[in-house]
Amino acid sequence: MNYVEIILKDEEGIIFHVGSDSSNFTHTVSYDYIDGWWCSCEQYTYRRCFCKHMQRARECAEKEGIVLDDNIFLGLDDAEKEELEVGSYGG
Ligand SMILES: [Zn+2]
Repeated sequence: MNYVEIILKDEEGIIFHVGSDSSNFTHTVSYDYIDGWWCSCEQYTYRRCFCKHMQRARECAEKEGIVLDDNIFLGLDDAEKEELEVGSYGG
């Protein structure tokens, strides 16, 4: 089932339901204006990828005139983010 549906849209972000290509499973994709993208699929859960569901959700939003970036929610606190940016030296 290849579809994208906007479930909720408010000042904090957008929530989509995106159908999977390979099954009739539906993934939940959300975009938070501060934190970025989140998806319920394994690609995001294990690899923090900008997955195809996010891509389709973003295309759907664009059709509604909403332009979104590709910032991904990593689920890290600020200290962990800093560590990733700085790299692993000095530790
Ligand atoms: Zn996904």
